[in-house]
Amino acid sequence: MTPARPHVRGELSWITSGPAYCVEVSALEVLEEFLDAHGYTVVALDGEQMTTRATTFDELRRAFALAPWCGDNWDAVNDCLGEFVHAHDGQLVAIVWCNQDVAAANAPATSAEVGWALLEVVLGRMPSLGPNCPWRIHADLFLTGQGEDYDRPPPKRLPLPGPVECPVCGEMEGVPILRGLPMPMVQEAAREHRAVLRGCIVSPEDDNWFCRACAWEWR
Ligand SMILES: [Zn+2]
Repeated sequence: MTPARPHVRGELSWITSGPAYCVEVSALEVLEEFLDAHGYTVVALDGEQMTTRATTFDELRRAFALAPWCGDNWDAVNDCLGEFVHAHDGQLVAIVWCNQDVAAANAPATSAEVGWALLEVVLGRMPSLGPNCPWRIHADLFLTGQGEDYDRPPPKRLPLPGPVECPVCGEMEGVPILRGLPMPMVQEAAREHRAVLRGCIVSPEDDNWFCRACAWEWR
């Protein structure tokens, strides 16, 4: 029996793309944990090896262990993918197309075609298998790359004390003053006005709190 397909966008709620799930490289660890937890068999394609039409078919043959005689066209790949489905009958398969941005930048048309063909696998539409074929895999397709076109979890929020009561105006508007090199989480906290940033030089006389209402500073 084929295991139930996990609800990818339910568990990884930061993924808004689909039906091919586009994941930013910074979130690869999160993706790997998800795939491990569900016992996916992972088929990894490397977009660095898919920068021309010819090398793309080489990479597909390698990643899916297709017959060496499988030709450089989708009819052939479809026929041979039937064997892949047979070999993985009943399994949950994650097709992870790494560096998809590199493939798309170098071979845009081929890359679009590969995306379409892999989604056919995900949808279970493989012509070679025929309507009465008992073999089934559940496949999910993930594309990874760098930049805004790929989804990633929101940055973790910096836990901060406050707001506290201002000793001058009495408003609950006192937020911490942070010093030192501002990490991205710290910059985010400052943008959200949950803290204020000062320079890198830390001195023991520095004030620790800033009032967002009256601008009083105290320690
Ligand atoms: Zn105040």
